[in-house]
Amino acid sequence: MTLLKFFIFLALFANAFSLEKNLNKGSIFFLTSDFHQEELDYTPVEIFNDISNQIYDELGIKEEVTLFIKKQSSGASFDNGSILTVPANFYILSQEVKSFKSNHHLKAIIAHEYGHALLSAKINQEITRSNFLFSSSKELSKKTIAMEELNIEKKSSQITRERKKEIRFLLAKQRFEASRLYKSILSHPDSERLLDIIPSYQELYADLISYLLLEKPTIMSEVLISKNSTDIEVEQSFARSFYMTNTDHSHKDPHSHLARTRQFLGAYIEKQNLNNETKKKILNTVTQAIIENLKLRLDNYELDGSLEKINQHLIDSISKKL
Ligand SMILES: [Zn+2]
Repeated sequence: MTLLKFFIFLALFANAFSLEKNLNKGSIFFLTSDFHQEELDYTPVEIFNDISNQIYDELGIKEEVTLFIKKQSSGASFDNGSILTVPANFYILSQEVKSFKSNHHLKAIIAHEYGHALLSAKINQEITRSNFLFSSSKELSKKTIAMEELNIEKKSSQITRERKKEIRFLLAKQRFEASRLYKSILSHPDSERLLDIIPSYQELYADLISYLLLEKPTIMSEVLISKNSTDIEVEQSFARSFYMTNTDHSHKDPHSHLARTRQFLGAYIEKQNLNNETKKKILNTVTQAIIENLKLRLDNYELDGSLEKINQHLIDSISKKL
């Protein structure tokens, strides 16, 4: 997701309940925006717990995140800092009809968003010039969480009028600081370039995590279609698969810019006996190739404007390491 969406994101959680739950791999603090406390749905938390455990066991990586759970939505997101926003009930909207998806599909979505957090941590670790982006984004996430806590307190019937007044002041202060942080990110000299080149690699990596976890090359395409989907929607969703990739739609959005690389990876993975070792090898290879390509493109504009060249360069980097 782009940084421009941060403010929209910040505004989404005005009324929330807060709960803490200890999960197997670290403590995850989560909030829900539109639930009533008595109908809290733990499903996404349990799914996240399963996913983070499976990724840690199979791929040896983990990252601490905060889950924001919405009652229902047709979208999910990672805020570039530490917050994953996921719905308890995910639906696809096609021809104005909502089609609710299964928990199996929700698993693929949560794995995808968690994948973003994992790659962000890796980019932050490997590319020093991206540190400002991720540290400021994490600070922004902290402010989002702090604002939620204040909003929760404000809703309580037991607080005094003075405290309510104080909360209003504290919320305004947090909003001001968040806006200052946001501006500082955008004014950084490397910001525009990083935000331009990172997203398509992020989407490839996040979809690869879902694929390796659920062992299905078409899993993200399945998630995105319903029986009401139009032909174009079906074609677009298949541009994200690692199987029958339609590259005609790849220019339209970063989710499918690396369609040719997906096709290449799908063909390679199909021939492998998928176990923890091969999964680790594939993911490490793709991660290293992504970091290498990002480092190269940070100051080099030669590949810009040609998805053909961008894909070929990434495929060459992956091939050399496989
Ligand atoms: Zn994504």
